[in-house]
Amino acid sequence: MLLELKRDSHVPLYTQIVTEVRRRISDGALKIGDRLPANRELAKTLGVNRNTVTNAYAELAADGVITSRVGSGTYITRVPAPAPASPAKEQSLPSPMPWESLLAVQGRDNWLQEMAGFETRREVIPLALALPSADLFPLDDFRRCVDRALRRQGRILLQLGTTSGYAPLQEYIAAQLALSGVKASPGEVLVTNGCQQSLDLIRQILVAPGEEVALENPTYPGALSVFCGASSKYISVPVGENGMDLNVLEDVLSQRRAKLIYVVPSFHNPTGVTMDVASRRRLIEIAGQYRVPIVEDDIYRELRYNGPEVPPLKALDEHGMVIYISSFSKVGFPGLRVGWIAAPQVVIDHLNRAKQRSDLHASLLAQAAIFEFARRGLLAKHIKRVKKAYAQRRDAMLEALEKHFPNDASWSRPAGGMSVWVRLPESINTSQLLVQAIESGVTFVSGEHFYSSSPQQNMMRLSFTMAGPQAIEQAVKQLGSMIKARLLKSRQQRSVKRVEGLRALV
Ligand code: PMP
Repeated sequence: MLLELKRDSHVPLYTQIVTEVRRRISDGALKIGDRLPANRELAKTLGVNRNTVTNAYAELAADGVITSRVGSGTYITRVPAPAPASPAKEQSLPSPMPWESLLAVQGRDNWLQEMAGFETRREVIPLALALPSADLFPLDDFRRCVDRALRRQGRILLQLGTTSGYAPLQEYIAAQLALSGVKASPGEVLVTNGCQQSLDLIRQILVAPGEEVALENPTYPGALSVFCGASSKYISVPVGENGMDLNVLEDVLSQRRAKLIYVVPSFHNPTGVTMDVASRRRLIEIAGQYRVPIVEDDIYRELRYNGPEVPPLKALDEHGMVIYISSFSKVGFPGLRVGWIAAPQVVIDHLNRAKQRSDLHASLLAQAAIFEFARRGLLAKHIKRVKKAYAQRRDAMLEALEKHFPNDASWSRPAGGMSVWVRLPESINTSQLLVQAIESGVTFVSGEHFYSSSPQQNMMRLSFTMAGPQAIEQAVKQLGSMIKARLLKSRQQRSVKRVEGLRALV
């Protein structure tokens, strides 16, 4: 199949494949019933990553244009709706704007879409996204909170508000922070559209183009997209059993000027590890010595299933050097987009201005609704319920891994959070495995997405919050047998090579 891809275009390659397949169907070059090449084959022909083809096929399948039949292949099943009619006299059209050459910044991959792509369609067991289970959302309770908020303050909530946030919510957040030992007045809390925006605002006010940011490697891809873009550089610090490797960090800071340190010290994404108290104190000490601010992303803190609480870095911080961020996305509803930053007043004032430039303020209705939900004790009730469910799901995943994964694989045993980080034998490439997994109805994230440098090909993140225990067991079993089959094949290939090598010697 001859598809024309423009590698210098900013249009993602998978979108180009979708457009090209649609065009060829409209041209009549491809007809209903025609078989498309297998992902691997097309990827090879086009010289692209297999995930790119998988994404393109997923999009075409979601529109019903193609259908994959297990063991048989992928077929054209529908003629796509025609593109809007082109004007009669194409020649007389002015030449299109050269947008690609005008774009100032080329971001990293569209990671969120890549990860989300498969889970929003058809029957898959979703182990990819670290998201709350929508099945557990208490919709009626939340609807009543929206209703009450609107009835009480509708005219205020639908009017433009102030940037810093809905005051009762700021007060609630400050009071909650105090419970975990973090001292911040309501005025030192800025309500944002979630941690993702918090990271971007922090970058805007603290990191000038070309300055360096120290990050755990691997880390949350959304942080990579903020800190590893065109405008800042990064210093990758490995993550061990106890979080960020502080010896490496110390070494790095003694030689390079980092502008900030970004860490996820509790239930780190993707590894699931939590930094102990002694290491937290040491991290603060090191950062204090070099006067580098720490951004503490504590989004998973409340999702602890066992083990003792560990205080946030910000609760241990006597220098006022920690900028603390969190949100309601993991414990509540990510679609609300409500999060916060707690930081010294001078930092909050600058963040406030940056937020004002960006979007004036977070939705007042969303803030008031989640405040009402929290105020009535419904958030605490909800957290209790989801923690119970997630702990069961985590246990189901750990048990299934023990039962079905090969002996030479290893994985984290997180005391909280949403995911398990798995290391497979080196001969297994998890992005190749993912293609096969999706075909058989299981998704996960291949590890490479989480690395700022030296990506490991044999790592995978399995999230356990979105599927029930039985589905998790089934998915892990399927993955386990795929992995074992691949291992067997690669061992056989190796032993054939060894025999050939021996013959050559004789
Ligand atoms: N930080 C971490 C460590 C995350 O895992 C995520 C979401 N997966 C975010 C931030 C983004 O969260 P929010 O929805 O609050 O923007």
